[in-house]
Amino acid sequence: MSHTVAAPPSQPYLISDLCDDLEAYLEPEQVREAYRAYLLSAEAHEGQHRASGEPYVYHPVEVARILAEMRLDAQSVVAALLHDVIEDTVLTKADVAREFGPEVAELVDGVTKLTQINLGNRAEAQAENYRKMLLAMTQDIRVILVKLADRLHNMRTLGALRPEKRRAIARETLDIYAPIASRLGLNHLRHQLEDLGFAALHPTRYRVLAQEVKKARGHRKEVVQKIEMAIKRRLRQEGLPGEVIGREKHLYSLYRKMRAKGSRLSEVLDVYAFRIVTDSVDSCYRVLGAVHNLYKPVPGRFKDYIAIPKANGYQSLHTVLFGPFGIPIEVQVRTREMHEVAESGIAAHWLYKGGDGDGGAASAHKRAREWLRDLLELQRDAGNSVEFIENVKVDLFPDEVYVFTPKGEIKRLPRGATPVDFAYTVHTDVGNTCVAAKVDRRYSPLSTPLANGQTVEVVTAPWGRPNPNWLNFVVTGKARSTIRSALKGLQRGEAVELGRRLLKNALAEESLSPQDIPAPCLQSALRNMGLATEEDLLADIGLGNRIAQLVARRFAFCGEEDRMPTEPDPQHGGRPLAIKGTEGMVVNFARCCRPIPGDPIQGFVTAGRGIVIHTQWCKNVAERPTRMDKIIDLAWAPAVRGDFPVDIRVEVADQRGVLATIAAAIADEGANIENVDIADHDGLYTAITFTIDVTHRAHLARILRRVRGIRQVTRIFRVRG
Ligand code: MN
Repeated sequence: MSHTVAAPPSQPYLISDLCDDLEAYLEPEQVREAYRAYLLSAEAHEGQHRASGEPYVYHPVEVARILAEMRLDAQSVVAALLHDVIEDTVLTKADVAREFGPEVAELVDGVTKLTQINLGNRAEAQAENYRKMLLAMTQDIRVILVKLADRLHNMRTLGALRPEKRRAIARETLDIYAPIASRLGLNHLRHQLEDLGFAALHPTRYRVLAQEVKKARGHRKEVVQKIEMAIKRRLRQEGLPGEVIGREKHLYSLYRKMRAKGSRLSEVLDVYAFRIVTDSVDSCYRVLGAVHNLYKPVPGRFKDYIAIPKANGYQSLHTVLFGPFGIPIEVQVRTREMHEVAESGIAAHWLYKGGDGDGGAASAHKRAREWLRDLLELQRDAGNSVEFIENVKVDLFPDEVYVFTPKGEIKRLPRGATPVDFAYTVHTDVGNTCVAAKVDRRYSPLSTPLANGQTVEVVTAPWGRPNPNWLNFVVTGKARSTIRSALKGLQRGEAVELGRRLLKNALAEESLSPQDIPAPCLQSALRNMGLATEEDLLADIGLGNRIAQLVARRFAFCGEEDRMPTEPDPQHGGRPLAIKGTEGMVVNFARCCRPIPGDPIQGFVTAGRGIVIHTQWCKNVAERPTRMDKIIDLAWAPAVRGDFPVDIRVEVADQRGVLATIAAAIADEGANIENVDIADHDGLYTAITFTIDVTHRAHLARILRRVRGIRQVTRIFRVRG
């Protein structure tokens, strides 16, 4: 089957034609309702015209026709006939509800909201439109079906518009509408939208490609017929029912393939594609066997989308054969019902009215619903529209991998997905507390991209929590937005905790403890600072937006603020704050001097970021314009947890294998090597800078001693920033 871009029909499609088409599958009473909707629409649009000059009502009738071809229900058809009345005429939603009931009114209203979108290239506007559309879909999926039909007819009649407008609409169609049609499995609509969009956006390329394809098809005709006959004969011999159809690729798919692979048209066209539609799943596999006997299959190209359907519900067997003269033949095998789903996706649900139990149509509908539900979740977590569309884009072009849970359940993930993505697919809590993963029973880094067929087991721990680093490798929108919002929550929790400790220390300098603050005093202080709760205050302190000493002083002078000195004395000599290494994101270690436990340290409170810790010898600190109120006295807690990166420089006599010897020595002392940088290379001596993770100065000292003992090492020292 081919979908060529239709020229404007010479004969207008009239309401009588529509009623004929509707009678084929609707009750007479429903057809009468549609006719009544037409009368209302025609009256409301009276005097209005399309850009082409035709009476406006031709458009809603054409939109209804597209839905009738998809065999959509009566309400959708009625809504299609009325889809522009709220937007463009004096009729209101209430009018529509009175005449045709609340459901139709909701449908028309939904389409109207989607229509009120601004064209334009700004990412934010596009994203916002997209978001509206997805929301509308989750309310009632028929809204989007009417909207897609509306867009299809507008694309068919694009010629009447100014060129810039034409291009903008075409781009939007390719960017937003065609992918949505694809995701809902509405391939018939999608191919038309794509080819029309392609023709409008790149008229010359479209024309050339169309001519070339036509020429090539002429040459190929004989070969196509020959293969078709051979397949038919073989199926007959085996007693298998099946209709064999030569399949032609759509122009836009060809164009996209050429661009993606940088290949020439002849290469892209040099593929012969057939589809075999048979009666049952069992026959599908037997047909596959028969064609594999006829022509040798190309190894590794068989795909079983019957056992594992695509995200949009698509099912078929795909294989590639070596045909006569070695030409590649692509074959798809499917049942009649799978074929309907492949062509009309979610709309196929309405084709099988009442058959809500079994079959691909019902499961296509279910899967589309699941997808929509996921999208809704995403959109709740995502901060803004652009972030949202970035999340969704990944999901829209599903190059997928299928992996298994330890119990054998199949999970579908986008290509490149990692165990962290998998964990979030299982459950948000599993993702948030995952600490390790086993892939095919072996421990693997959480960032490993998963491959088809692997079994993934996630190890969780009660203390596990999302790592900001995960954002560098997760690919699913869900994982990304859940990690982001979990980190935001964590950061607040950590900030409150740090703020509590900072305030306690500062109060101690005033010889106060937190319990000493009278409640009215706290309340009035909060009011003065424009904060709602004590927690807000602590978070503010922890994030560095407010200085603990000033807050403490305010409490110390509660009720006698006029006596309060304005500047706290930083040399006051209170107890330093103890750093435990578990403060999380609100305490950061400076990369310039890389402090490690045991080093004398000092902290800077940076608004919004909490505390940054430097060594006391750090040059950056010495050069920093002094903001006394922002320096904070720090000390290491007795038992600090964690690994701390530090740079060491090793100068060696340049000899083969020395790098490996040093690395082995470092690893042997229990330190991880994060980075190796080889500088001065004069052929005689080499300076190597290692970034290694250590637990303490004593640990570092042990490593330095050990490496110094290596014969080729002439000098070794810690880089002090
Ligand atoms: Mn319209």
